[in-house]
Amino acid sequence: MGSKLVVNNYGSFDVVFTHGNGSTMYDVNGKKYIDFLAGIAVNSLGTNYKPLVEAVQKQAEKEIHICNYFMSDVGIQFAEELLKATGFEGIYFGNSGGEGNEAAIKLARKYGYLNGGEKRRVIYTLENSFHGRTMATLTATGQEKFHPAYFAPYVEGFKTIKANDWDAIKTAFDDTTAALLIECVQGEGGVNIVDAEWAKAAADEARKAGAIVMADEVQTGFGRTGSLLASDELGFKPEVVSFAKGVAGGLPMGGILFRGKANDVFKAGDHQSTFAGNPLACAAGLVVLHELQKPGFLESVKEKGEYMRKEIASWKNPNTGDVRGKGLMIGVDIENGKSALELEKKLLANGLLTSTAGKNTLRIVPPLNISKEEIDEGLSILKKTLETL
Ligand SMILES: *Cc1c(COP(=O)(O)O)cnc(C)c1O
Repeated sequence: MGSKLVVNNYGSFDVVFTHGNGSTMYDVNGKKYIDFLAGIAVNSLGTNYKPLVEAVQKQAEKEIHICNYFMSDVGIQFAEELLKATGFEGIYFGNSGGEGNEAAIKLARKYGYLNGGEKRRVIYTLENSFHGRTMATLTATGQEKFHPAYFAPYVEGFKTIKANDWDAIKTAFDDTTAALLIECVQGEGGVNIVDAEWAKAAADEARKAGAIVMADEVQTGFGRTGSLLASDELGFKPEVVSFAKGVAGGLPMGGILFRGKANDVFKAGDHQSTFAGNPLACAAGLVVLHELQKPGFLESVKEKGEYMRKEIASWKNPNTGDVRGKGLMIGVDIENGKSALELEKKLLANGLLTSTAGKNTLRIVPPLNISKEEIDEGLSILKKTLETL
């Protein structure tokens, strides 16, 4: 239907949504779906969450866009509260995850130049990582399938190391290394969790070589894993964190937070974007942040995730293998010669929204405030569908 009108880069399904409520969505035929996808980990407070809707409506009446020659009051408030909540010293607002990572890459390059000249240019990322679709973030992405010959030449100065490889970090970093960029839980790569001890050791080695450490928290950030930032939980204290997806509950917003050696690297004119810090997105971001700060909210994300993982594992369905994740970022390996994509399609037909990741993994990233009833309704669809896969 829509795929005839918009370039079909997404392999989209023929389902047209009209509205939703919480973690329940409805298509144009009135069919109901339980939302275990949240617009790919974006709708952190679900659909039609009243405080979010009202904040955006109110902001729309005040101002929708100003340009970055000036600042908006709501932008200042959001930046202040974000920095206070996360313990960072500076922030750059962009509009997407790819743009956040572009900003991180540019900051790392300038940092390298200021602290080692022309030769300190290399940015390490992890094998199997995903960092975006722009030329630089695509190059940074540690998966060969994202590097077809027809997009070449790619951007220079990127190398990869394997996550959780202790030998690699002993020799990888030197005076040519500008930064190490860690995706804390590889979302697109199959919900693979980076080991906390390894991440800390890798960060130490990179810093010893004079590099800064950055975390791609585009998917893991802002409550998804049950912490404000997943890097807090892993404990490697990045100098730069990129964020996007869930930060503004569905409005386009992305960017980077920075501190320590990464603070004061960007100067006026180094990096900009026309839409950056959009007041509507900032107003929405404040609602999301306040929700995450409510006592028990992040704890409930962890509990719900654990409950879902335990439930799925307890079925011992022969079509499923490893069930893993952090908070409400869950991966279920599909085995027995069955396909995760086939499962995703059948789930869609049966009224459950999910997605796939990695080689053959079902990815579950529901709204963070999904109700117990919606979780159980979704799980029962998943259970039945797995039985007939
Ligand atoms: C989605 C994602 C991106 C890209 O974000 P866009 O908003 O699509 O540009 C980058 N990194 C990670 C880890 C992501 O999950």
